[in-house]
Amino acid sequence: MKTENEKINPFEVAKRQIDIAAKYLNLESGFLEKLKHTKRELIVHFPVKMDDGTVKVFTGYRVQHDVSRGPAKGGIRYHPDVDLDEVRALAMWMTWKSAVVNIPFGGAKGGVQCNPKEMSLHEIERLTRRFTWEISIMLGPEQDIPAPDVYTNPQVMAWIMDTYSILKGYSVPGVVTGKPVELGGSLGRFEATGRGVVITALEALKYLRKPIEGAKIAIQGCGNVGGVTARHFNRLGAKVIAISDSKKGIYNEKGLDIKRILDYKAQYQCLICEPKEEREITNQELLELDCDILVPAAIENQITEKNASRIKAKIIVEGANGPTTPEADEILNEKGIFIVPDILANAGGVTVSYFEWVQNLQELIWSEEEVLERLTRIMQRSSKEVLEISLSKKIPMRTAALVLGIGRVAEATRLRGIYP
Ligand code: NAD
Repeated sequence: MKTENEKINPFEVAKRQIDIAAKYLNLESGFLEKLKHTKRELIVHFPVKMDDGTVKVFTGYRVQHDVSRGPAKGGIRYHPDVDLDEVRALAMWMTWKSAVVNIPFGGAKGGVQCNPKEMSLHEIERLTRRFTWEISIMLGPEQDIPAPDVYTNPQVMAWIMDTYSILKGYSVPGVVTGKPVELGGSLGRFEATGRGVVITALEALKYLRKPIEGAKIAIQGCGNVGGVTARHFNRLGAKVIAISDSKKGIYNEKGLDIKRILDYKAQYQCLICEPKEEREITNQELLELDCDILVPAAIENQITEKNASRIKAKIIVEGANGPTTPEADEILNEKGIFIVPDILANAGGVTVSYFEWVQNLQELIWSEEEVLERLTRIMQRSSKEVLEISLSKKIPMRTAALVLGIGRVAEATRLRGIYP
C-alpha cells in the first residue's frame, strides 16, 4: 500500500477495493484481473515556452481504464503530485462511478505534473494546448471526453475544445465537458458535483432520521466541489462550521459567513479569518472536528489509519476522490460512521457531464431546471440502490457502491465477450 517514502499509492488502494467488493460478486478470476488493469495508458513529455523565453519540459498522462459501457470519461488534473498510479486510480474510480449512476460511460483520467499556482495564465494556456495536442490521438466525443478536476476549470476546457477543433478542422464541442456555457457547456455543470454531494448527504440524513436544519458541516477544500457544497448546505439551513484550502482552515462553531469567505477567496485566492468570531485551524484539525457531516473535498488519502480513530463526524460524504484509505475505512466502520463513498457522493459531476455531452451531440440546450431535476432523480435513485445493497448484504456503503459499479461493468464485459 505504501512506497518507501511512506506515500500511500492510490492505485494500490483502488485495487484493494476491488478485492474487498469481489467477495460479494461471483466473478471469474480472469475477469477480475482485467478490471484491475487499465486498458490504455499514454505518457507524454512535452515542451512549453514560458513567459521568460525559456522552454520547460512537462510530463502528462491520459489513462483509459475501461470502455465496456461507453466512451472513456474523466477529468484532467494539474498538480505537482500527479503521477501514473494516481491517474490510474482516478481512471478506475471513474469507471465504477459512471456505472453506479448508470450512465453509458467508461472511466478515464488525465493529468499534468505542474504547479499552476506558479504559472501565468498564458503559460497554462500553452501547456493546455500542447498537452491536448499530445493526447489528441486518444480523445474524441465517441472515444474519450475530458472534464475539469483539481486546478483545471471551464477556461482550460475551452482551450482543450478549441485545440482539438483546430486539429479536426471543425468545432467539436462534445470532446470535452465542463466547458463555459457560451461554448456548449451545460447549465448547472459548474455546480453539479457539489449539488450531488448535498443530494446524497440529504439521502443519508433521511435514512438516519436527522434534520438538515442546524446540522454542523465541516468541509475540506473550497474549490469547485467544496465551495459549491458549502454554499448549497448554507442555503438549506445547515451550519458550515469549518472550511479550508491547501494552506489553512477557518472555524466558527456558530457557523461561518460562507458568502463572505468564498467571495474573498475568489478575489484574492486565499482564506481570511474574521478574528472576533473565527479562528484559524489546520486541515488535520478540520478533519477531526465534532460535526454532523464531514465533506473531504480536496485530494486523496486525507483520512488514514493515522487519524481515523479521531474522526468525530457522524456522516462522511466524500466530495473528493479517494480521500479515505481501506485501513481508515475499517476504523470508521467500527465507529459506526455512515460513509457516502466518493463513487456515489461526487458522481453529480459526471452525471451532468453526461447531460452536456448528450446536449452537444444532439445540438440541444436544456434549461437549468431540467438539468437539476434530472440530476436529483439520478442521485436519489443511485443513493437508494447503494443503500439497499448495503442493508441487504450487511456491508458498508463503500463496498455496496463498488459491488453495484463493478457488477455492472463486469456484466457489460461478459455480454460483450472477449474478442477474438
Ligand atoms: P479545485 O481545484 O477546484 O479545488 C481543490 C481544493 O482543494 C482547493 O480548495 C485547494 O486549496 C484544496 N487543496 C489542494 N491541495 C490540498 C491539500 N493538500 N490539503 C487540503 N486542501 C487542498 O478542485 P475540485 O474540482 O473542487 O476537486 C476537488 C476534489 O473533488 C478532487 O478530489 C476531485 O478529483 C474531486 N472531484 C471533482 C469533480 C469536479 O466536477 N470538479 C467531480 C468529481 C470529483
